[in-house]
Amino acid sequence: MSAKRILLIEDNAVNRRLAQFLLKSQGYEVWEVGSAPEAFASLKERQPDLILMDIQLPGMDGLTATRQLKGDPTTRDIPVLAVTSYAMKGDEAKAFEAGCSGYVTKPIDKTLFLEAVAKALKDRERKD
Ligand code: MN
Repeated sequence: MSAKRILLIEDNAVNRRLAQFLLKSQGYEVWEVGSAPEAFASLKERQPDLILMDIQLPGMDGLTATRQLKGDPTTRDIPVLAVTSYAMKGDEAKAFEAGCSGYVTKPIDKTLFLEAVAKALKDRERKD
């Protein structure tokens, strides 16, 4: 079985390094960008099995970016897992409304984070 591919969209270098480290420890193939426009450009080059979307991004925020991805036939089937440091009520609902299939909070809890990633990838497999 080939490694699952994950696109990580995160503007914070520390969070990016941690997420990369955890994902690579599970054998996932990971690449990263720091903004929504970079993600759109990257997705034209290669398609991941899962997108990890930081909600707070400079410029276009992660929810707007997710809506755009879900409105595009070339990217709408790629599951998006929202990652946010907001502990605010209603954020989860907003993430699902935007088209995210799941939600994890920062600071990243290693176990919960990897479980959410594995679940999102599994749900995706079931659909294929
Ligand atoms: Mn951010």
